[in-house]
Amino acid sequence: MGKDYQFYINGQWRDGAGGERFPAINPYNQEAWASIPHAADCDVAEAIQAARSAFERTWRHTSGLERAKLLHRLADLLEADADRLCVLESTDNGKVIRETRTQMSFAARQYRFFAGFADKLWGNVIPLDQPHILDYANRVPVGVAVLITPWNSPMHLLSNKLAPALAAGCCVVIKPSEHASATTLEFCKFIEQAGFPPGVVNVVTGDARVGKALANARGIDKLSFTGSPDVARSIAADAGRNLVPVTLELGGKSPNIIFDDADIDQAVIGALAGIFAATGQTCIAGSRLLVHRPVYKTIVERLVVRAGSIVMGNPVDPKTEMGTAANEPQFRKILGMIEAARKDGAKLVAGGGPATDSALAKGFFIQPTIFIDVENSMTIAQEEIFGPVLSIIPFETEEQAITIANDTRYGLASGVWTTSLNRALRVSKEIQAGTVWVNTYRAIAAQVPFGGMKESGFGRERGAPALDEFMTFKNVMIDYSGTIRDPFAIRT
Ligand code: NAD
Repeated sequence: MGKDYQFYINGQWRDGAGGERFPAINPYNQEAWASIPHAADCDVAEAIQAARSAFERTWRHTSGLERAKLLHRLADLLEADADRLCVLESTDNGKVIRETRTQMSFAARQYRFFAGFADKLWGNVIPLDQPHILDYANRVPVGVAVLITPWNSPMHLLSNKLAPALAAGCCVVIKPSEHASATTLEFCKFIEQAGFPPGVVNVVTGDARVGKALANARGIDKLSFTGSPDVARSIAADAGRNLVPVTLELGGKSPNIIFDDADIDQAVIGALAGIFAATGQTCIAGSRLLVHRPVYKTIVERLVVRAGSIVMGNPVDPKTEMGTAANEPQFRKILGMIEAARKDGAKLVAGGGPATDSALAKGFFIQPTIFIDVENSMTIAQEEIFGPVLSIIPFETEEQAITIANDTRYGLASGVWTTSLNRALRVSKEIQAGTVWVNTYRAIAAQVPFGGMKESGFGRERGAPALDEFMTFKNVMIDYSGTIRDPFAIRT
């Protein structure tokens, strides 16, 4: 096995107290390429304690300007080493390097974006009814935040949380997924090199046991989680017992709607990007393609042809268009859902199983898969698959498209393809989702808020609202009237 990683607590590299380790498996060839330590409960407690001491002793007294400088340094270091990190991430989770490379730059962009806020977190002076009371509301960091991330985009999803948390003045304990921990641990070296004080950023690795210990911990002020809705329910209940507030970024079953007045070339590419980019292992996957009846046949034909020519191969090869499922349980889950959809009566027109090319036999490859004439009530149209499986659903009218789009328990993302401005505005207004893309899909920016409605979660990441997740208000009221008040009546 390759490298033996260590995790990072209070500025020190450590193995787990129990000595337990687990392998990092390359989903392209199933080889164990590194070993990761599993944190014990006492490691988790120490990481939280380290974050608490750093917050009280150092970080909450560190100026916004200094926090901004450190965040920019972090971005510099990430950019300088991005080529190496994207190879590591693609090796760890099978995501194509074309995407992990973009994600490294995007992560760096987020540290810079939030660095810009760090010295501008001013509050308000609030005029009151009483003339001789000075009132001001300061924005203050909540304190110690736990950040739990999934395996599909470790560096990118971590930056959604860590950049605003550090800019806001919080100290953190991070737990990456047991299926893709390596880049988060590599990233800690940049935390060290950039000069963050010990304890400001801590990382513990391990499986759900570590996540559960963090979610149940007393002494934390915030928990921010990205992952599946089922785990979110457990985390929210655990944190809720200690009255710890949570931000939840969860799954989706996003509708991507093509109207008959759309630019068909653009729409076909948008549909392809929506579901086959990142092997469909993204929360924003446009996994339900709603197509207007007059263009239904054309869209289906063109997608089937393009899906059949998608280049699958080694994720670290820049020519590869689609990588593997990220791990074996995910591979089995996707195949199981394809099989169930067939039994449910969905009509398969492309893919439908593991890749058949013998050169891909060792990897968790799944063919780009398309079902047509899907009914929205079918399991395949209601459950998140998190794989390269597209359900195409025909519709007749704009109203019907909106009804189908909203007939889901999720509300993360959506797409609308039309050349009519009126229609774009009407449909965007009606769709119940945190993000609506018009004539584009899977487009992201550090500046804009991202998050879900309904069971896709609550709270926002990216954009200025992300800071609110890690800050609260402290109001100060100063009476300078010099008068004696009535002690038995509340003062207004
Ligand atoms: P997951 O929910 O299985 O695991 C996520 C993290 O939670 C991992 O670090 C895991 O170890 C930890 N965990 C597992 N059980 C836990 C428990 N009981 N208590 C505390 N922590 C626990 O998710 P996954 O399979 O890693 O990722 C896929 C899911 O993530 C999909 O549902 C996807 O839609 C979602 N996702 C959402 C977004 C978004 O921004 N909305 C982005 C990417 C992925």
